[in-house]
Amino acid sequence: MAITAKVKTEEERRAEQKAALERIRNGLATKVRILVALDACPVCRAAEGVYDFDNVPELPLEGCSNGGECYAVYAPVLDFYGP
Ligand SMILES: [Zn+2]
Repeated sequence: MAITAKVKTEEERRAEQKAALERIRNGLATKVRILVALDACPVCRAAEGVYDFDNVPELPLEGCSNGGECYAVYAPVLDFYGP
């Protein structure tokens, strides 16, 4: 079976997540939420929640028992809601 999609290194994933966090920080969000998949490992599940930009953990999460393979993403938290 031919693998056409390039497998991402951990470094690339880390850089991607950092860029995503930067975009959120530079947007309208006041805080950032970490969202994880329902089948993520306990470490990642525990990290799910809302953080200040100053103390949000880096993704992929340190100590992830799937070696950072769990689905975890940053999502913006907005203080206000549109009409
Ligand atoms: Zn994990």
